[in-house]
Amino acid sequence: MYDCFNRNINYLRISVTDRCNLRCRYCMPAEGVPLISHSDILSYEEMLRVIATAVPMGITKVRITGGEPLVRKGIVQFVEKVAAMKGIQDLGLTTNGTLLAGCAQALAGAGLHRINISLDTTDPVRYHDITRGGDLLQVFRGIEAARKAGLSPIKINCVVRSSSDEPDAQSVREFCEKNGLEVRFIHEMSLAEGHFTIVENGHGGDCIHCNRLRLTANGMIRPCLFNDIQFNIRQLGIKEALEAALKNKPEKGTVNLNGSFHNIGG
Ligand code: SAM
Ligand code: SF4
Repeated sequence: MYDCFNRNINYLRISVTDRCNLRCRYCMPAEGVPLISHSDILSYEEMLRVIATAVPMGITKVRITGGEPLVRKGIVQFVEKVAAMKGIQDLGLTTNGTLLAGCAQALAGAGLHRINISLDTTDPVRYHDITRGGDLLQVFRGIEAARKAGLSPIKINCVVRSSSDEPDAQSVREFCEKNGLEVRFIHEMSLAEGHFTIVENGHGGDCIHCNRLRLTANGMIRPCLFNDIQFNIRQLGIKEALEAALKNKPEKGTVNLNGSFHNIGG
């Protein structure tokens, strides 16, 4: 499907939960955030209906994100159902990797194509500090399990404060080179202040080529991460919300005052 600026929109990112087992400093405050009430969180059936509606409109690529998608119960079965849908050519998942060791094999078996794992440093003490409590060893085990499960490519998302020359980012670059992993450096952004940049080695932040729509865990279709606009699938209907998002997808990102990474999914 084409938007008003002739961009071919074929990519849907779905945040399956706003919950997370970490509190990364650039993403969430230490005390966490007010959570979406359970009745507002979409069921997997509702999410599948959104995908089933979006595919005939032109979506071929889906990425599952969060919050932390692996904390939501039934995620493997959900992946299996999405992977089995006709028309889905590419199914990815973005995770912090801490729970991946226990389910990488199952996710690959369910039909997941590719995985992005967030890793901002290879120093356990720094990792614990940045994530406010995370255990780096769990992430390393998760990466290893993903490799053994045959998930390919494995991409590493590394958030940098000012440049990918920082020591933490350099350590991640070396780790990835040694282990045959692709790394993408994402500059720390502020949606509320409108600070966003192009992802090094990736596609995020590149408005001219943006091909994305997003579905949040509470049923909003958002045409742009860097904008407030959103359309409620429960109020408008799924097709109508998708169409409205397409029609209103801004040419360029500006500021987003009503959403953040942990509830839109990055
Ligand atoms: N919990 C999963 C994870 O961390 O990979 C998936 C959701 S997380 C919100 C998705 C991506 O957004 C992660 O790669 C994370 O590093 C990135 N992110 C979160 N806050 C950010 C910020 N302020 N600036 C840039 N990227 C951010
Ligand atoms: Fe959780 Fe991912 Fe946000 Fe870190 S970046 S707090 S892992 S949602």
